Amino acid sequence: LDRLEVNFENKPCYDIVISDDFSGLKKELNKLDIDNKRICIVTDSNVAEIYLDNIKEELSGLNVFVHTFEAGEKNKHLGTVSDIYDTLILNKFDRKDILLALGGGVVGDVCGFVAATYLRGIDFVQIPTTLVSQVDSSIGGKTGVDFKHYKNMVGAFYMPRLVYVNIDTLSTLPMVEFSSGMGEVIKHGLIFDREYYYWLFENSKNILAGDLKTLANMVLVSQKIKKQVVENDPYEKGQRAILNFGHTLGHAIEKEKKFTLSHGDCVGLGMLAAFYICIKKSKLRKEDRSFLTDLMKIYSLDTETDMDVEKVFGATFNDKKMESGKIKFILLNSIGEAYIDREVSKNDMMEALDSIC
Ligand code: NAD
Ligand code: ZN
Repeated sequence: LDRLEVNFENKPCYDIVISDDFSGLKKELNKLDIDNKRICIVTDSNVAEIYLDNIKEELSGLNVFVHTFEAGEKNKHLGTVSDIYDTLILNKFDRKDILLALGGGVVGDVCGFVAATYLRGIDFVQIPTTLVSQVDSSIGGKTGVDFKHYKNMVGAFYMPRLVYVNIDTLSTLPMVEFSSGMGEVIKHGLIFDREYYYWLFENSKNILAGDLKTLANMVLVSQKIKKQVVENDPYEKGQRAILNFGHTLGHAIEKEKKFTLSHGDCVGLGMLAAFYICIKKSKLRKEDRSFLTDLMKIYSLDTETDMDVEKVFGATFNDKKMESGKIKFILLNSIGEAYIDREVSKNDMMEALDSIC
């Protein structure tokens, strides 16, 4: 259906192919010169059950191995990485061979990290099957795992050779996972593309009904936005931070809620809180905030929660850092245009958090 070329350090790096099935996968892999290579599909237990047979059939005739681990963020750790190394060593994978991440962001991040480190780096391909992975984690080269209770503490920037998206995989995704991805999609509109933001409202029926054309269009626009932001700042030295819109407070809420809310819910709540500050700074109007609330409700995202505001604040910030302007807070100048603000006060944040309670 579509193809995007992603650059890294100003050079063409890999393609994102958007399709509505897996029939073009082998052809795309062939372009990577896979003759005589071993391919290890890395996937999780849920995705394996739905898609593994199909993928194996598409890749018939190739030298394919499979490593499946139990689904879930709780398995995004070095133990899983170590198990995959074992599979690769056992099957004599060498540097010319290739890994294929089939699944959501967890599989992509784990497999990408293995690819970055096994024999100091082997090729990998992503087949993202969740909305989060299609519009977010498969672009930008961040790979890694959680360490103890620290999220994404260990990792590497490492680019895939190809990202192959089959939009139709979204049809089996549980609604709560789809909504979580919509949190990031709405964020893309808010930070970068006003028209897209309103399009998400106008087209909500088709999006929620799973219309493939509308979904493909949505995924493509979101990928273009993320691509543009990360291409301009691949190592997150500056402007890439705007992707953190809604995340500063969102992460704090996520922690305080002990990860019982979805990431998208927390980002949505974080965005609503940020809107409160934008209104206070006369950048946005109250009506903008009611519109965002309505849009989030359409996509089944929480628009309020109960929490201990002091605790949420304390979990993420310390007063010293705040006063020295070290906290980079992402705000909007207007719908579709984000900027980095270093002058958000503790009081602003507390009020903003209060506004979503
Ligand atoms: P996930 O990979 O855990 O997938 C969510 C659930 O959906 C899992 O149970 C999975 O088995 C299941 N699933 C996946 N595809 C399915 C399908 N098509 N049909 C039915 N079920 C399916 O979670 P996620 O939301 O995709 O990703 C979250 C992870 O991504 C987090 O660990 C986060 O840190 C990471 N992430 C990384 C980046 C990055 O830049 N590298 C960006 C955003 C998020
Ligand atoms: Zn996020």
